[in-house]
Amino acid sequence: MAPVVVLVGAPGCGKTTVGQALAATLGVEFRDTDADIEQMAGKPIPEIFIDEGEAHFRTLERAAVAAALAAGTGVLALGGGAVLAEETRAALVGHRVVHLSVELPDAVKRVGLGAGRPLLAINPRATLKHLLDQRRPLYAEVATETVTTDGRPPTAIVAEIAALLPR
Ligand code: ADP
Ligand code: MG
Repeated sequence: MAPVVVLVGAPGCGKTTVGQALAATLGVEFRDTDADIEQMAGKPIPEIFIDEGEAHFRTLERAAVAAALAAGTGVLALGGGAVLAEETRAALVGHRVVHLSVELPDAVKRVGLGAGRPLLAINPRATLKHLLDQRRPLYAEVATETVTTDGRPPTAIVAEIAALLPR
């Protein structure tokens, strides 16, 4: 079975928060590839970046996404950078993929100093601006729907996504 919905978007767009709440609303399981990678590696993501570097993290991420898509867990949140991999973008074709869009001001507020997010550990605002510019076209490419999150509480976003789904 395919996941009911796959969530993609920039760091701080709310994939984990909205994904957990949406799964609870729908009464299905929630899975987050960032958590899967930590389990596979046996350590937190920042330590993977420190010990092995980003390229190794991306290799683990491609495998984690493929496994999660195949497992078909109800709501699946992908890591923010997962769409950088062409292989992952191709694997998403045919799935219901919701892009949780976020603009820089809200992303910056939500991510704060980037705790647990190694790419954002230094200068989070400038790094987020760069990430948003680089990845927006990729999120748009894989998404079947886009839901705006700026200035909206997670409950409203969950309700909008739930209304998109077949019942
Ligand atoms: P992601 O998994 O996409 O990186 P998170 O779900 O971890 O994002 O959210 C990052 C932070 O922003 C968390 O502290 C979360 O509580 C907060 N947050 C998420 N969505 C919203 C929202 N719609 N409005 C306000 N804060 C939010
Ligand atoms: Mg997350």
